[in-house]
Amino acid sequence: MTHLQEFVDLLGADRVLPAGPKVTGYLRDFSWYSPILENALADTTVDAVMRPRSLDDLTAVVALAAERRIPLTIRGAGTGNYGQSLPLRQGIVVDIKDIAGVLEIGAGRIAVLPGTLMQDAEAAAQETGQEMAVMPSTYRVATASGFICGGSGGLGGAANGDLWDGNILAVEMLTVEEKPRLIRLEGGDVRPVLHTYGTIGVVTRVEMRLVPARDHRAMYAVFADFQDAAGFAYDLTASDVRLRLCSLHQAPIGSMLKPLAGAYDPADHVLLLWADAAHVAKVGAMARRYGGRLEPDWPAKTHITQFPFSHTILWSRKADPGSSWLQCEYSDDRERFLGQTASVSERYPGVFLQHIEFIESAGRIRPLGIPPLVGLPDHEAALEELMAYCAGLGITLLNPHSYIVEEGGFVGDTAQVATLKQTSDPYHILNPGKLGEGFFTSRGPTPPSLRTRTRSKEKRA
Ligand SMILES: Cc1cc2nc3c(=O)[nH]c(=O)nc-3n(C[C@H](O)[C@H](O)[C@H](O)COP(=O)(O)OP(=O)(O)OC[C@H]3O[C@@H](n4cnc5c(N)ncnc54)[C@H](O)[C@@H]3O)c2cc1C
Repeated sequence: MTHLQEFVDLLGADRVLPAGPKVTGYLRDFSWYSPILENALADTTVDAVMRPRSLDDLTAVVALAAERRIPLTIRGAGTGNYGQSLPLRQGIVVDIKDIAGVLEIGAGRIAVLPGTLMQDAEAAAQETGQEMAVMPSTYRVATASGFICGGSGGLGGAANGDLWDGNILAVEMLTVEEKPRLIRLEGGDVRPVLHTYGTIGVVTRVEMRLVPARDHRAMYAVFADFQDAAGFAYDLTASDVRLRLCSLHQAPIGSMLKPLAGAYDPADHVLLLWADAAHVAKVGAMARRYGGRLEPDWPAKTHITQFPFSHTILWSRKADPGSSWLQCEYSDDRERFLGQTASVSERYPGVFLQHIEFIESAGRIRPLGIPPLVGLPDHEAALEELMAYCAGLGITLLNPHSYIVEEGGFVGDTAQVATLKQTSDPYHILNPGKLGEGFFTSRGPTPPSLRTRTRSKEKRA
């Protein structure tokens, strides 16, 4: 790399890892969940990895990258599922994990440095009698900036919604210019940063919402009929029972969650609940009315948070390495939702295994599907057909087989993002290739990284 020495002069040799075996780990994340992305990102490379120790170091790296027009991609813990932190156009990857720590904490609010683990933010909140309003199920390893730039929601969502529901109160970020500017975004203005894969600025401070802590208890309920379970989970989330998690698994997913599998019959549909301990009796009585049975004692050493959201796919891929996955949002209307689950069960029995996280967002119940897909004969063709079928039912698809922000489907209108990017990343060197391009919709038989190389060879010729 031509400018490597200049980065070494800034950070010191121990903080700059040149391309080679030591950086291989930085070229992996959890995009292998998707056979399509796994193939597309297989030959990703990077020129060097920077490990700044402080915000001053980070600012100096950003300034130098801007001056030399070197593509830069920021990385937290690298647990993203869509290749968000993998560099498509080489350049440098900047690991922000060492820029960590809680800056301020008060009623309803915590401010942290970007590399702070969500687990550490949660621990600090608990010390004040509060808890994170929302955090990913990977909170033990995920960073705060990685969560807001690459994630969408998670634990706490059953009461507090997701990233877009006022849970991210403010963000500070550096622009990618020779003289980086610090921009502060508050309230609704933080939206362009949310789930846009770190393409519009380098986040230096994250302020998140806290809610009063509760004594949450892990438990599960089993049902013989999936429709009964789905109706129960919807109504429970809508009720006044205080939930931090409401995660429904159609059989045979339950048997794929290995540490739990002996606790119930493989034919059971299983609902994982993390609910206020004071409400156990109420939940039990309600489950009985819906034809289910609540088990108030957690049956495994593995914590309940290691099974829901994308963790379910970790278990299903282990149980069936040939399986794939999808993300989607069912209707928020109870009857339409139940119609959709019934249709999917009928059309794709044993293939589209319905795993649904129930999110309450501004009074609306939003069933978020994260289904394992098993036994698809020709993965790509079958996937397209299945997605078209779901769209026909009015299920919104959140395609996890693309690394492009817009194609993922979580971020609606990206016009505000594009406008901000014009001044915050004027040279378009921040995580290039992830915003405003096409992958899933225009992919050919060759991986995109190969296409990029071919294009640059053509330019040189
Ligand atoms: C088993 C499993 C379960 C998961 N469960 C959930 C879940 O419940 N909810 C959820 O939302 N996600 C979930 N995820 C996805 C992921 O773990 C989370 O979104 C996590 O918060 C990402 O944090 P990270 O530190 O690993 O970020 P990374 O993957 O390192 O980065 C994510 C994105 O943020 C960008 N970024 C990071 N820091 C900065 C910065 N300072 N400035 C600018 N850009 C930055 C990166 O460039 C990248 O685009 C799960 C993934 C797995 C594998």
